[in-house]
Amino acid sequence: GAQGGHGAPQKIDLPNVKNIIAVASGKGGVGKSTVSLNLAVSLAASGAKVGLIDADLYGPSIPTMVGLQNVKPEVQNQKLMPIEKFGVKMMSIGFLVDPETALIWRGPMASSAMRQLITDVDWQELDYLIFDLPPGTGDIQLTLVQNLAISGAVIVTTPQEVALADVAKAVTMFRKVGVPILGLVENMSWYELPDGTRDYIFGRQGGETFAKTNAITFLGSIPISSSVREGGDNGIPAIIANPDAPTSQAASRVAGEI
Ligand code: ADP
Repeated sequence: GAQGGHGAPQKIDLPNVKNIIAVASGKGGVGKSTVSLNLAVSLAASGAKVGLIDADLYGPSIPTMVGLQNVKPEVQNQKLMPIEKFGVKMMSIGFLVDPETALIWRGPMASSAMRQLITDVDWQELDYLIFDLPPGTGDIQLTLVQNLAISGAVIVTTPQEVALADVAKAVTMFRKVGVPILGLVENMSWYELPDGTRDYIFGRQGGETFAKTNAITFLGSIPISSSVREGGDNGIPAIIANPDAPTSQAASRVAGEI
C-alpha cells in the first residue's frame, strides 16, 4: 500500500480520549483551523472535555487564533502540559518551536514531531480531541488516519473548483481507511455587499453540490466576513465574539453532528 517501504506504522493509542474528530481540507487557507477552533470551543461550552491539536506542522495558526503566540507549555513528569484557553486544552507545534524550524522538517522528523504532539502531551480524560490536520493527503495525513482511531472527519472547503478537486482526494482517503465523514462545511461561500446582495467570489454552492453528489451531510455555509478574519488575528474565536455569527452557527451544527 501507500506505506510500502516505510516499515510497519505504529498504532497511536489514546485510551483516555473518547472521540477523535479530524478536521480536514484539500487545500490550505480555506478556513480549516478557524472551523476546528470554533468547533472545539463550542463543544467545550456545552460542557464536554475538549482537546485541540494543531497538526499543521508547516503553518500552525492556532496560537495566533487564541492570542497566545509567545506561550510555551510546561513539562511535568516528562509530559507536555497542554495550553488551556476558552475551556479547550490545546497543543500546537507553534507552542514548541519557532516557525522556521519546523519548515525544514521532512519525513521521519515531521512524523516524530506529529507523534509527540499527540502522545507526549498530558491530555488527561477527554470527551473530544479535535485534530486540525495539515491540508491535503500527503504521507503525514495518511499515517495519522491509518494509525489513530478517528471517530469521524469534518471536511472544510471553499466553493472553488480547484479546492474541490483536492477535497475529493481527502474524501477518498478517509473512506479507504474506513473513517466516517460526519459532514462538510463550505467556507467563504459569498461576500455580502452593502446593498444586501451576495457576491459569490469563489463560485456558487460548489461545496454543497459536492456534498450532495458524494452522499456527505452538508453542515452549512460561512460567508466571507471581516469579523471572522479579525477574530482570527486578534485571538478571539467567532463563537466567543458573536455566538450568532454564521461561523458560530456552523460550529454548533458540526458539534451537534458528533
Ligand atoms: P486553513 O486552516 O484552512 O489554512 P484558516 O482557518 O487558517 O485556514 O484561515 C485562513 C485565513 O482566512 C485566516 O486568516 C482566517 O482568519 C481567514 N478566514 C477564514 N474563514 C474566513 C471567513 N469566512 N471570512 C473571512 N476570513 C476568513
